[in-house]
Amino acid sequence: LLDPLLEHARTRPEHIAVRGPRAAQRTSLTFWQLADAIAARALTLQASGLRPGERVGLIAPTCPEFLVEFLAVEACGAITVCLNPLSTVPELSFVLSDSGASRLIMHPICPEAGTAAAESLGITAELLTPVDMDELPAARPDFTPVTRDLEDCVLLLYTSGTTGRPKGAMLSARTLLTGVTAAEAVAGLSPADRAGTALPLFHVFGLGSVAYPVLANGAAITLLPRFDADELLETIIADELTIVAGVPTMWNALTHSTAHEDVTTPQLRLALSGGAAISLDLMRAFHTRFGASITEGYGLTETCAFGTFNAAEGEDKIGSVGLPAPTMDVRIVDPATGQACGPGQTGEVRLGGPLVMLGYWNRPEATAEAFDADGFFCTGDLGHVDEDGYLYIVDRLKDLIIHGGYNVYPREVEEVLYAHPQVFEAAVIGAADDHYGQQVAAVVTPMPGAELTDDEIEAWCRQSLSAYKIPRIIRIVDGLPKGPTGKIRKRSIEL
Ligand code: ATP
Repeated sequence: LLDPLLEHARTRPEHIAVRGPRAAQRTSLTFWQLADAIAARALTLQASGLRPGERVGLIAPTCPEFLVEFLAVEACGAITVCLNPLSTVPELSFVLSDSGASRLIMHPICPEAGTAAAESLGITAELLTPVDMDELPAARPDFTPVTRDLEDCVLLLYTSGTTGRPKGAMLSARTLLTGVTAAEAVAGLSPADRAGTALPLFHVFGLGSVAYPVLANGAAITLLPRFDADELLETIIADELTIVAGVPTMWNALTHSTAHEDVTTPQLRLALSGGAAISLDLMRAFHTRFGASITEGYGLTETCAFGTFNAAEGEDKIGSVGLPAPTMDVRIVDPATGQACGPGQTGEVRLGGPLVMLGYWNRPEATAEAFDADGFFCTGDLGHVDEDGYLYIVDRLKDLIIHGGYNVYPREVEEVLYAHPQVFEAAVIGAADDHYGQQVAAVVTPMPGAELTDDEIEAWCRQSLSAYKIPRIIRIVDGLPKGPTGKIRKRSIEL
């Protein structure tokens, strides 16, 4: 994985590669400095006994050091196990023990739970050394990356798991390198780009389809440790970002931010959105405010966050998540019969090709269940493909609400709710019901300062939805639970 970066260090050594948030002592590394920092770190890791194939836990926020650690571990032939800095001791212990990690590297801002988890397992825990801009290596240390097979696992990402324990998706070097070409196609990336994101790097979207591909394509990336709409907006302006990457809740907050309303962002050309469905109204509102398009992609942890995407240039189809990413094979299959679905027919989305994971770490049964007989990964998402090959995600198979025998796709109801001018965020879920099996429940947050009532929401839905799709349970709340990327976590909603 280091090779493309070494090449950029050679051909454009002074080009900015990665920056931290704007601050008095801002971390800002050129490709030359980044390559030096990775080589120095890899030598230290090797000297401390890190061997190829070992698993190394990494807990760090979104920052340049995260990338230095990940790439140094990979260059030593080892596997990074990404951990969420907000995890509890039992959660960390589970992942560290399941992956058989031999050591844990922690950023100084999140050491407590990590130290406790490492101690309970008897593994080494060490604090990561933040990059000191005044103490960068004077010359590139003499380090040669370990040669590894393209099919080697380089990254273990645990999916939070809808059922049972989390499972470690094994991503290979081939997958990450294929992602570099795929991201180039998705975003039209070139070395002239300046990207920015507040996505977590311990999640596949931030690391596998944004940060690493941006750098490997020779562009610069600004990394923000947390999402704050105003801070991201200020960074877009100050760093003259051309691309931002995030999830729909971030675009919603950015579009409705009252900061810098008078400032234009002419250099911003693209917002890469993924992780969850985005409403058409939000896409339009974002474009009106920033003059840049949101391009929506669809993917999963198990597919390096790739699947399909709407090209940065070219024709988008409203409501579609686009065409297959380069190398990605998309199939729609009737999950009940295993038969292939024709154009327009809804079935389970299945994905194949080198962007798909090797399998789940140490879980042969779960791996066997996740792949069909043709080696395609079963996503658990419902969708259909049109005559031109564009994919439309209908919803998650597991989120489908069955109300009195009728199928209600939450996304359709959410689309209606988001069109209401006073609705800020909305989630539609199924609530158990003795008579109907499930009731449609809507949980809504109002725009700042807006007053919303249940009756108003119901009346709004009545204007465009059939009776069985109208939410019978409506909750107006201050906020919705979010996962690590910032996307709404429906499973955590309590009615
Ligand atoms: P967990 O780790 O609990 O499994 P998760 O399901 O959110 O969390 P991810 O791999 O991050 O895990 O998310 C993948 C899912 O996100 C997809 O299966 C799909 O349901 C949803 N998704 C991703 N992109 C889109 C999109 N553009 N439109 C609709 N849904 C999307």
